[in-house]
Amino acid sequence: RQDMYRLKARTRGLPAPVVDGMDRLRLETDLHDAASRNELVVHYQPQVDAGTGRTVAVEALVRWQHPTLGMVPPGVFIPIAEDSGAIGEIGAHVLAVACSTVAGWHVGGTPLELAVNVSASQLHTAGFSDFVRLVLKQTGLAAHRLVLEVTESQVVADTDALGELTALRALGVGISVDDFGTGYSSLSQLRRLPATEVKIDQSFTAELPGSASFVAGIVALAHSLDLRVVAEGVEQPEQLRALIDAGCDRAQGYLLGRPAPAADVRSRTDAAETEGPTHG
Ligand code: C2E
Ligand code: MG
Ligand code: MG
Ligand code: MG
Repeated sequence: RQDMYRLKARTRGLPAPVVDGMDRLRLETDLHDAASRNELVVHYQPQVDAGTGRTVAVEALVRWQHPTLGMVPPGVFIPIAEDSGAIGEIGAHVLAVACSTVAGWHVGGTPLELAVNVSASQLHTAGFSDFVRLVLKQTGLAAHRLVLEVTESQVVADTDALGELTALRALGVGISVDDFGTGYSSLSQLRRLPATEVKIDQSFTAELPGSASFVAGIVALAHSLDLRVVAEGVEQPEQLRALIDAGCDRAQGYLLGRPAPAADVRSRTDAAETEGPTHG
């Protein structure tokens, strides 16, 4: 209990790698067995079409149910897993679980799309795109229903990662630039990414409607590059309104649904189907 407190106190509101010393060593050691011990749980957060209000996709977000520390958030353990190499097994587990969970999931007769976060280090694993192709084949999820989210700053100057993303794109998988606008990459670098989507970072959404012209600029830029625009971190109705006005394609955030186990999200999308869309 005390451990959990310390962990929370140290990580709340701070960048992830601040877990230090004993905590980090402990997490790193425990993380190696987390997947095989079934301690990893995948939650899903809805992405809503801005025009219809309908859930069209879900983002898979991993959680770690540590036996003594309780729920450890991904912002804490993913960076540790990236450093220790455990990210390969964790990422493979999340992808397989999420694809099989979403494969048979329809909303309003339309197959749901799935977004999965991918670390640059996974893209460096030999044969990553082959692994993705195998998972799609085994789960029956069509490639065009899968979007892999990568962080702009992690991949933009990384030739190997870019090569793997191009191979994934060739499979028909979508590529989303997560936390868009927070990196320092140039426009010309962005154009080199084989992306199909950008996700406006939640720090910009949080400033809406004040930053509306800025967000409209990002939308116009993204659309000029033929990229779909998703906004994350939508918490207030005014923010959703401003995003729709700015021409944003999809929205995601606590206002539209918190990350939750598949069964919970599914019962909500099934209920919404019988009630009809809530706006638009
Ligand atoms: P992300 O991909 O940018 O995910 C968005 C984060 O914002 C999630 O935090 C989500 O729970 C949170 N969020 C969603 N809506 C709202 C909102 O309205 N307000 C606020 N304040 N927050 C909101 P979470 O689940 O803690 O994940 C943090 C990060 O960990 C993710 O950021 C992603 O970079 C990483 N991550 C999560 N799952 C995976 C995974 O399976 N693999 C990898 N490589 N990274 C993952
Ligand atoms: Mg993401
Ligand atoms: Mg993000
Ligand atoms: Mg992120």
